Amino acid sequence: METLKYDFVIVGSGLAGIAAAYLLSSHGSVLLLSKDFPTESNSFAAQGGMAAAIGMDDNVNLHAKDTLETGNGLSDPRAVQCLAETAPRIVHWLQEIGVSFDQSSTGQISLGLEGAHSRRRILHAGGDATGRKLMEALMVALKERPNIHQLVNMHVLTLLQNQNGRVIGARAQFANRTQEKIEFYARRAVILATGGVGQLFQRTTNPRGATGDGLVLAYDAGASLRNLEFIQFHPTTLYFNGFPAFLISEAVRGAGGILVDDFGEAVMKDYPLRDLEARDLVARKIYQRMQEGRHVYLDCRHIQNFQQKFPNIFARCISYGIHPTRDLLPVFPAAHFMMGGIATEMNGQTDVEGLYAIGEVACTGAHGANRLASNSLLECLVMAFALDEHFRSENNEESEVNVSLTQYQMERIPDSQELLDQVQKVMWKAVGIVRDQCSLDKGLKTIVELQQKHPQSGLLCTARWIIASAISRQESRGAHFREDFPVPDPRLHHVDTWLRREEFPSIYKDACDDFNISQKIRRLSVVMAEV
Ligand SMILES: Cc1cc2nc3c(=O)[nH]c(=O)nc-3n(C[C@H](O)[C@H](O)[C@H](O)COP(=O)(O)OP(=O)(O)OC[C@H]3O[C@@H](n4cnc5c(N)ncnc54)[C@H](O)[C@@H]3O)c2cc1C
Repeated sequence: METLKYDFVIVGSGLAGIAAAYLLSSHGSVLLLSKDFPTESNSFAAQGGMAAAIGMDDNVNLHAKDTLETGNGLSDPRAVQCLAETAPRIVHWLQEIGVSFDQSSTGQISLGLEGAHSRRRILHAGGDATGRKLMEALMVALKERPNIHQLVNMHVLTLLQNQNGRVIGARAQFANRTQEKIEFYARRAVILATGGVGQLFQRTTNPRGATGDGLVLAYDAGASLRNLEFIQFHPTTLYFNGFPAFLISEAVRGAGGILVDDFGEAVMKDYPLRDLEARDLVARKIYQRMQEGRHVYLDCRHIQNFQQKFPNIFARCISYGIHPTRDLLPVFPAAHFMMGGIATEMNGQTDVEGLYAIGEVACTGAHGANRLASNSLLECLVMAFALDEHFRSENNEESEVNVSLTQYQMERIPDSQELLDQVQKVMWKAVGIVRDQCSLDKGLKTIVELQQKHPQSGLLCTARWIIASAISRQESRGAHFREDFPVPDPRLHHVDTWLRREEFPSIYKDACDDFNISQKIRRLSVVMAEV
């Protein structure tokens, strides 16, 4: 088997991975690998923008306050402060590497408004193509760094560890499913930047690669996972049967779009921030209307210059045969963002030596129980900055990797489309916008049955952990809404859900034999730890 050595191995070439590659290349050689092209990442699809408190009436503390409030008592204030404080510096850095943010007629950066932000602080580039513009600028910048080696079509299936448990590399297979494997070794760090889990749900805004692979890689290596029950459902995706969910950015509601039902009644009329309430609330209200047999639409007909402001959304609507300035846009919520993830510090450090995680796959606690709109592109970059500082300031030991001493974890195999289809249906019903014990138990039972047939599936592990985490949280908070526990439990304020490998395998066999598993998982497996 071919083996290659670098200082840093980064898995994932979305915004987090690509920014980290650029910055870390000042400290050594970098391998940036991904199973899909960077243009197929969540980052490339991001529309709405990036939050930063740079307006005259705004400041870092207000940005932090809005983020904490949206996080519903589960955010880590240190992570939130770091996010808000670093944002203006990130804007400056992005401009230096060539990003040109949209400007007003007076030549100032124009700042948009989105749900639960108390000030206009959303920066856009290319109208509704912000993620794409950031990615393109970084992709150009990467070309100037000769010590970055980029490989695509590489599906990482397992991490390599030495006898002390330190992560020293990754093993990948060509994503076109030839059986050929390659091992990549990292002298200083392996960094997971593998994005979210949207593809585990039947309706999602996420591209096909968002299957939560990083969670499984980290867990198999012994890292802790945190708050997996918190999945954000974006309220507004275009709703056409048979078509993939296409996001109608929150910026459209920020520009005046109003949610109405079949009878023309404004769906959010009873709430103080109306259509700009936090995403979980808006998503649930739309879902409830649809459960009552009604449809929900976004009325954008009165928005001036819609086509100029939202060129991609306009083009997609036209391709579906609807005209945003003449027709109502049919909308429905879809899985969008994972607030939980691999437990990390802001600099990506996990609890396993040599292993780092950044971007959406990481859980720093900055998003708590619900993410404030436009904070995730920001977090990708803030984490890449902190990672860079970590390797600059600390006297990080370079380990000469002794390949012959590698310990192998369980080898995962790429999951089939057929299995993915099954999982998506189960997850949508079990742990979708509204959950309860019955839906969760049923979902868990099916996933465990599937695990018996597909023991090497990473997808099924992730599905199971999300459901198990949702079972363990007997309250509603932020994006986690349980019909059987509809209000927050004050005792669970600032209480996180943790999953660690040593607790789970011990019950795995029992869990397969006996379907009273939710009790066992609650008692044995999901550790509720005080922050
Ligand atoms: C439609 C849409 C619109 C959005 N709009 C906004 C917005 O306006 N503002 C905002 O802040 N956020 C937005 N978000 C969220 C934001 O885009 C993401 O949270 C963020 O881009 C995640 O970046 P990332 O680098 O962590 O992961 P991603 O960009 O998802 O990249 C993940 C990378 O990991 C690779 N990968 C995964 N598994 C493996 C594996 N096993 N082996 C090798 N490679 C692997 C993938 O190929 C990919 O390259 C939006 C998301 C979507 C889907």
